[in-house]
Order: sequence, then structure tokens, then C-alpha cells
Amino acid sequence: MGEKASVLVIGGGIAGIQASLDLAGRGFQVYLLEESPTIGGRMAQLDKTFPTMDCSICILAPKMMECYRHPNIKLLTYCELKEVKGIVGDFNVKVLQKPRYVDEVKCTGCGVCAEHCPIEVPNEFDMALGIRKAIYMPMPQAVPRCMTIDKENCIKCGLCAKVCRAGAVDLQQQPKEMDLNVGAIIIATGFDQYDPREIVEYGYKRYENVLTALEFERWICASGPVGGHLIRPADGIIPKRIAFIQCVGSRGLKFGSPFCSSVCCMYATKEALIIKMHAPDVQVYIFYNELRAFGKGFQEFVNRARNEYEVKYIRGRPGEIKEDPKKSLTIWYDDTFTREIKSLTDVDLVVLCPALIPREGNKRLAEIIGVELDEYGFFKVKHPLFAPVDTTIPGVFVCGYCQSPKDIPDSVAQASAAAARAAEMLAQVRR
Ligand SMILES: Cc1cc2nc3c(=O)[nH]c(=O)nc-3n(C[C@H](O)[C@H](O)[C@H](O)COP(=O)(O)OP(=O)(O)OC[C@H]3O[C@@H](n4cnc5c(N)ncnc54)[C@H](O)[C@@H]3O)c2cc1C
Repeated sequence: MGEKASVLVIGGGIAGIQASLDLAGRGFQVYLLEESPTIGGRMAQLDKTFPTMDCSICILAPKMMECYRHPNIKLLTYCELKEVKGIVGDFNVKVLQKPRYVDEVKCTGCGVCAEHCPIEVPNEFDMALGIRKAIYMPMPQAVPRCMTIDKENCIKCGLCAKVCRAGAVDLQQQPKEMDLNVGAIIIATGFDQYDPREIVEYGYKRYENVLTALEFERWICASGPVGGHLIRPADGIIPKRIAFIQCVGSRGLKFGSPFCSSVCCMYATKEALIIKMHAPDVQVYIFYNELRAFGKGFQEFVNRARNEYEVKYIRGRPGEIKEDPKKSLTIWYDDTFTREIKSLTDVDLVVLCPALIPREGNKRLAEIIGVELDEYGFFKVKHPLFAPVDTTIPGVFVCGYCQSPKDIPDSVAQASAAAARAAEMLAQVRR
């Protein structure tokens, strides 16, 4: 082991960022490995955050920047974990850095190349509701502030290279393999979203005015595809009625996964409040199975939405959504209080809250590292009560949504716990 013990953190969402900052602050060398071109994770895509209603990127960006500037953190973005060998205190790790075709040191992120790029493709950061160019930066606050060429869509016209005054475009860049030696590993790979197309009755992707909650976060965000204006996707009309549907593909209701995603009751309430702040006259409905407002101040948050903002909570199970020729929607639902089949008509926008599920890549990652997954595909911990951040391999820890469904405050707390456990274990092996 080198002078400073080092730790590999996999996943640059809020959990990975927090674990990295904690460890770096204690003098450990951290390698923060992120598969996408920027750190930030899902939190970077959110408009505001419950329970405080802070602007999400405003509170996240300083932490992202701190990671970039910290002398003890090396950011490995656009990278893939290839191999892990060894034991606690002495893991040998192989990492593959994918080519960005842009020199990270030379690029200033000015974006002139993107202005000249003729190719437009759906922007993943905006959940494909907006467009980006084939040479792009996922978001204005990206860290590192560097463009990336998406080789699949690039037509090799060379315009970007011609206009780049920094000479940063390098179309000959090759994948690069790196060998690292680390004492501990922290896994923080977050979550994926269930695809609601499976529930054909909801018409997701068939009806333009049906979005998922993550899409709605981008839609309503000032930096999103429509500048944060509250309009219907189909025709730009200002909506009068918006409905949220909870538990889409979660809790074993016919489709998807059996577990509760744990954050949807609260983020749907948050999104309802955001709507009310944009346009107080819009009527907002939330269809729920049972409200899970379990955290400190959460029930008060829901009560405020209900009483002050007149958000209507309906305990009911929507069975079908129908679109009329004017693109307005009718929701047919089973009212689970009265046991009647009812309908809510003239809905302009439906926001689905799909199950948040373990990432597909967890299986491969678990094989590479040698850790176990639970029955759902989340990373398994050694003991749920007394070792809640230790995996089944000594020296490998886990935090954030990839361990189990949780919100940002709990992800941050667990990240600090994982960092503390890694530091403690490294102190023992260093002795
Ligand atoms: C619509 C919506 C709204 C929400 N609103 C709120 C809110 O207001 N307040 C709140 O507290 N919570 C909210 N949440 C929950 C919040 O998004 C999560 O709690 C939080 O993002 C979890 O952070 P994380 O770092 O564990 O995972 P993520 O944010 O998913 O980050 C994981 C990171 O790991 C990277 N990664 C994945 N696999 C690999 C790999 N194999 N190698 C390298 N990198 C990898 C990903 O690219 C990503 O950058 C919301 C969730 C949704 C869906």
C-alpha cells in the first residue's frame, strides 16, 4: 500500500460523491469511478428536492466541484470496472477508460463545437425529451467540464475539430486501461427505472401527455427541454388538471417488482407542490395505494400539500387511461375507499411514478468484485441490523440506492457510514 491508503468508489451519484469527500477529507486517496461522462447521478436531474424544496443542482454542484478540486480525489469518469483481484488492504483493480475523443485537459467546455455539430440526437440527461448534439456535455454543470463525442452518432465531418480553438478534439483517441491498487472498495451505483410500457393500459409512449416522474423533473426544470414552462407535451397548452399515479410496477401489483421504491409518495407530493408554485390554479390529483410519509417532517409536508395547496389525494388503483381526440386523458380507477369504479376526466397530463429498480449492471459488477446480490438485485449486506454497509466481502462496502430504496438524506448518511467503515478497516490493515 502506498503512503496514503486508497479507496475505489464506484458510482458518482450523491452517495458516491459523499463517500469520496468524507474519505478524501480524512487523508485517503480516492478514485471515484463513474461510467457516464459526468458525476452527479440522478440528483443532478431533479428540479427541486423534498423535504427542503432546495434547487437540486444548486446544492449538488458545489459538492461535484469539491470532488473535482480535491487533491485526494481522482475522478475516473467515462470508465468501466473490468477486474478486481486481491483482498482487503490490497485489491488490484483494472479500469477501462472509454475514449471521449476530446482531450479532457485541453477542453474548456466552451461548447462552440456543439454549436457547429450538424447531428442532433435525443438528450439522455433530459430523459430524451430534448436534444443534444453528437459532441456534447450532458449538462451545463457537468464535472469534469469536458465535451464528449458520441461515436455511434458522429458522422466524422470534422467540423468540431476545425472550430475547436483549444485543439482538444482527438478522433484517434483509444480506450485506455489503468491498474489501481486500493485498500477498500465502496459500491454506490444507484438505481434504474421500471419501463411503464409493460402496463399497456397506461399508454406510456403512446399518449404524448403521459410522462414518468423523472421526465417531469426535467420538463418542469428551468434548465430542461422547455425552459421549465408548465405546458402539455402534445401541444403546448397550459394544463388545468394534472394527475400522478403511484406504484407503477411496484409493490407486486400485477407488474414489476414486489418492493416499495420508498421515495415516490414524497417526490410526487414535491412535484405537486412545484406545479402549484408554477400555477396555483392547476388542480393536482395523486392516486395512491397508501401514503408512506415515514421521515421526519414528511407527514407535515404531505399535510401542507393537502391543506394549503389543495392537492387531492385519491386512494385508488387506476386501471386504464384513455386519450380523447384533443389529447386529454380520462383515468378509470377503482376507488379503494368506496369500492366503486370511477373516472377522472379532462386530465391534461398524467405523471407515472414507476418502480425504481436495481441497475441491470449490478450482476456483472457483483461477479467482478465477488459480492452477493439480494433476491431483488440490490447489493446484499453482511447483516441488515449490525453491518448495514458491509458487503459479503471484507473491505467492500455499499451505500445509496444500490443497497436498498432510499432518498437523498438516507443515501448521504449511508455514504458517510460506508466511508467511516472503510477508514476504520484500512486503519486496522495498516497497523
Ligand atoms: C423522480 C424522482 C424524484 C426524486 N426526488 C427526490 C427528492 O426530492 N428528494 C430525495 O431525497 N430523493 C429524491 N429521489 C431519490 C434520489 O434520486 C435517490 O435517493 C438518489 O439519487 C440516490 O443516490 P445514489 O447516489 O445512490 O444513486 P444515483 O443517483 O442513481 O447515482 C448512481 C451513479 O452511479 C453510476 N453508475 C451506475 N452503475 C455504474 C457502474 N457499473 N460503474 C460506474 N458507475 C456506475 C450512475 O451513472 C450514477 O451516476 C427522487 C427519485 C426520483 C426517481
